[in-house]
Parts: sequence; structure tokens; C-alpha cells
Amino acid sequence: MSTLQELDRAYVAGTYARFPVELVRGTGSLVYDTEGKEYIDLGSGIGVTAFGFADETWKKAVTEQLGLLQHTSNLYYTEPCAKLAELLCTRTGLKKVFFANSGAEANECAIKVARKYAAEKKGAEYSTIITLKNSFHGRTLTTLAATGQEHYHELYQPLTPGFVHVEPGNLAALEQAVATHKVAGILIECIQGEGGVNVMDKAFVQGAAALAAREDIVFMVDEVQTGNGRTGALYAYMHYGITPDVVTTAKGLGGGLPIGAAMLGERVQNVLGFGDHGSTYGGNPVACAGAYSILSRIDGALLDAVKEKSAYLFKTFANAKGVKSVSGLGLMIGIETEKPAAEVVKACIARGVLCLTAKHKVRLLPALNIPMEQLKKAAEVILAVCAE
Ligand SMILES: *Cc1c(COP(=O)(O)O)cnc(C)c1O
Repeated sequence: MSTLQELDRAYVAGTYARFPVELVRGTGSLVYDTEGKEYIDLGSGIGVTAFGFADETWKKAVTEQLGLLQHTSNLYYTEPCAKLAELLCTRTGLKKVFFANSGAEANECAIKVARKYAAEKKGAEYSTIITLKNSFHGRTLTTLAATGQEHYHELYQPLTPGFVHVEPGNLAALEQAVATHKVAGILIECIQGEGGVNVMDKAFVQGAAALAAREDIVFMVDEVQTGNGRTGALYAYMHYGITPDVVTTAKGLGGGLPIGAAMLGERVQNVLGFGDHGSTYGGNPVACAGAYSILSRIDGALLDAVKEKSAYLFKTFANAKGVKSVSGLGLMIGIETEKPAAEVVKACIARGVLCLTAKHKVRLLPALNIPMEQLKKAAEVILAVCAE
């Protein structure tokens, strides 16, 4: 084992099973390790580096702000925070934004909004949040409770109470849960990312949104992974013809700096008042300046290119040797392989391609602007590994 790996093992909490790869620098979708080996990156730091590594435009926005102010606290106004909130609202039609530092924190905010809205309108006993089985909403004790995967829960009891999980795609089960519990909110992912790149069907998502509207329940969509152009729409909910009450996002929004956002729609825009919620780093000017530059570049042309690359990946992997199925939307792709996904990922690393897994699938979340020839080259490596 190298010195770096020994150092990391000695001093960094052992929560991650890292690959034996030591990354040093990158440009765009190419990244290099300590030995100078080049990799084509199809993971983008789990959907974070939306425009690749060390992207010039993003870097300029971030470093310019860094030279002005790196942090002020939320006691004062700063332009990057206000301008990013405005841009998020004009691009989505949602009304207000609360800034946090991660996906889990954005979801914490959404859950607080749902509970406060319900407590004020219907009474404090209306506190239940319904989420989906196989979902992923974060690692804090409350977002773990929201996460519909028992194996994450086992060692951390008691979790925040008041969460009920229903089968994804089963509208009758959702209706039953709403009839049984005193419900504040429904929280879903349009595509379950960590759960295995499972795309929710339109009828289910529209039915869930309509049910929530009818019952005056806060309808929340977790777009931490699906947001910011990832699926070929600015936000995945836009594929479904619905308007959520709350949309949370993070990952790709920051392009590599920590930021999370809970966007609040008309019905809940004024639920949070002075002192109801807060975050020391939330709305950090450097993170917001970077996010503004990212969001400004996610336009029609970029989304069309995402769809084109997506079509290429679907065409390439559907019916390929060693591939059982392909799922996903845009540049969020799950490939069910005959070999164990972890084995495929390992073999790809050896051949200079970085990809991810999600449950039993190989997951691809390349940078939105990955050049087509790099995407093709990487796809051919995965194809070859699957076919062997
Ligand atoms: C990654 C993820 C989260 C958690 O985000 P963190 O920034 O790691 O807290 C929440 N929800 C979804 C859908 C995610 O993919």
C-alpha cells in the first residue's frame, strides 16, 4: 500500500471503501492519478462536477468571488446568494430558496417546512412524512429515517419518528398511507439514484402530486441527484408535468463546492420566518457564485446535447453482450450487467474509466459537457468488460 493510502487509513474515519486510486488533478472529464495514469471520468464525483474538473468558467466565477469575500454569515446581504436564489426561482417558477450545504440538509429543510405548514394548518399531530421504499435522502438521523432502506437504519435507533415508506409506483398504497396516517408531506425522487436508477412512471408521480394537492399535503421532490440538467431537463420533475411544493437539490448545483438548496413553491413560500431555520455556511458567496455560473450554462443547447449523449448510451448498451437492461434518463444511467456491478467497475478502473455502482447496477453520471469522443471511448471500455 502506498504512503498516501496508509496515511488515509490511519487517520481518516473508515467510512469509505475507497478504490486504490489516488487522484491528483483533472481537466474536463479527464483525471490523472499520482502515477500520471489518465482516466475518463463517468462518475463526476457522484453527479457533482457538472462541467468536469477545473472547468475554466466555473473556476473564474469562484476565484473572483474568493478574492472579494469568502464568507460573511447570514447577518448581512451578499449578491451571489440573492442572485442565485433569483435565478433558481425564475428558472423553475418556485418562489423562495433556503440555502444549505448538502443534499441531506436541503431535505432537512424541506421536512421542517412540511411539518410547520401542517402544524399551523391542521395541527401538530399532522407530522407524518411519507417517502418511498428503496429511496435515498441523506445520512443525518432525520434524512436516514426518510430513506426507505432498512439496512441504513439498523445501528442508529431511535431515528427521528414520523416516517412511513410505501412501495414506489403503487398509488393505491400511497392513498392508503394518506388515509391511515396524519400526513404533513410526501417526499419522492423522480428517479431513485442510490436505489438503482429506477425511473418513476408518470402516472404514479402525477397521481402522487394530485393526491397531495387534494389533501393539502406538502409535495416534495428530492432532486439532489436528478437536478441541474442531469436528466436532460433542468429538474427531473419538469419531465412529469407537475409543480412540486418543495424541490431540493445539491450535488451538481455547486459544480464541486458544497451547496444545497430547498426551493419553496407558492403554497409554502412563507412558511419559514425569522429564526425558524438557519445555517452558518448556507448561501456562502463562493459556493453561490460558482453555482450561479453552473446554472446559467444549463440552457436549451446543453440539455439537447445531454439528450443526444443519453440516446447514444441507451443505443450502445441496450442488447449489448453481458448487459441485461438499461435504465435512467439523460446522463443518469443504470446498466444492469450479467457480471456483478462492482467487478465491472473494478475492471473499468484498470482500463482507465471511472464509473459508479447503484445497488446491482453500474451507474453512469458523466459531466454534462463530456466530449462525445471521450464518452464513446469510455463506453467501448465498459462494453468490452461486460462482454468478456
Ligand atoms: C446524494 C443524495 C442525497 C444526500 O446528499 P448529501 O449532499 O450527501 O447530503 C440526498 N438525496 C439524494 C437523492 C441523493 O442522491
